[in-house]
Amino acid sequence: MNELSARQILEHLVAFPTVSSDSNLALVDWLESYLTGHGIECHRHWNDDRSKAALMAHAGPRVAGGVVLSGHSDVVPVKGQVWTSDPWTVVERDGRLYGRGTCDMKGYVALAVWALVRGQHAGLRRPLQLALSYDEEVGCTGAPPMIAAMQQVLPQAELALIGEPSNMGVIVGHKTGIGFAVHVKGYEVHSSLLPYGVSAIMEGARLIGWVNDRNAALQAVAGPSVFDPPFTTLHVGMIAGGTANNITAADCRFAVEMRVLPGEDHEALAAAFEGEAARLGATLTARRPEAGVHLTRFFGVPGLRPEGGGAAEALARRLTGANAVGVVSYGTEAGQFQEAGYSAVVCGPGDIAQAHQADEYLELSEFAAGQRFMERLLEDLA
Ligand SMILES: [Zn+2]
Repeated sequence: MNELSARQILEHLVAFPTVSSDSNLALVDWLESYLTGHGIECHRHWNDDRSKAALMAHAGPRVAGGVVLSGHSDVVPVKGQVWTSDPWTVVERDGRLYGRGTCDMKGYVALAVWALVRGQHAGLRRPLQLALSYDEEVGCTGAPPMIAAMQQVLPQAELALIGEPSNMGVIVGHKTGIGFAVHVKGYEVHSSLLPYGVSAIMEGARLIGWVNDRNAALQAVAGPSVFDPPFTTLHVGMIAGGTANNITAADCRFAVEMRVLPGEDHEALAAAFEGEAARLGATLTARRPEAGVHLTRFFGVPGLRPEGGGAAEALARRLTGANAVGVVSYGTEAGQFQEAGYSAVVCGPGDIAQAHQADEYLELSEFAAGQRFMERLLEDLA
């Protein structure tokens, strides 16, 4: 089978419109046959309805202690965005590669696939693995079952390099993300009869008040941190409720998102919020049996804790020549690999500012820097 260039692999990957709400199987079929065609061991981990699969691959000796290159197959939608060229075709303009996912993060996945095939033919002393997840863009829900499956079928690697766009900088930390969907149930009466009803909006505002108070308290005691802002934040980004000016609202819905410093007890914070919601809910139900507060945790992405010179950091710094490391504010799958026992950092081509945008692009210079990174990695593992 022909060995494709990284650019050709990228063109194939972008042509599959793997929006998170749709199947990624056409991409996985193509990639699996390309890798197995080069003699590389592949495994799938299916989602519940078998509409999507994660792909795990292993090149080199079947021993522990290798390196995982981690990426996600899904991309965000293009619906409602105005694109200059077809988002599902890689187009080169002005020294950039345009297309959905070129930056986030099929550019890195293409480089990883290129490296596996090159390493397979050139020979590896230490294994190189690929972990390609699904459902990253909808809350990083695909990676944990994939990682667990990977640990069953492949030798345990020492470290994971997560190629989210960082301009090839070495990112050693990010915050934990937790999201709650809140539904406050009220009871409708004419507003002139306020004490006989329950306004879901006015009661929901008490919970949002708790969020504001918690932010102030966290900021007040914040110490020095590598993160900016150097404290945990809670945010309400969407709210809906009520039907008329003169009716107490039967429903109020909003979302609370928490960005927790790694090392801080995020479960304690989540439990405090749950406790407050339960306390408020009980008072509402006591007034009207229909009323109450319902919480759904809709995402939870563990933070990436700086390891202070861990194996992944040391390797990524050696390969990039970086003498500084950084932290970021966005969540990635890196914390999930770290939780599963891998040393982990984020390091990938492109700028996160391009991710999810119309006319998403990857600078050719970034793609080339990513390729040099992979070439050095292969020398390191040879
Ligand atoms: Zn991404």
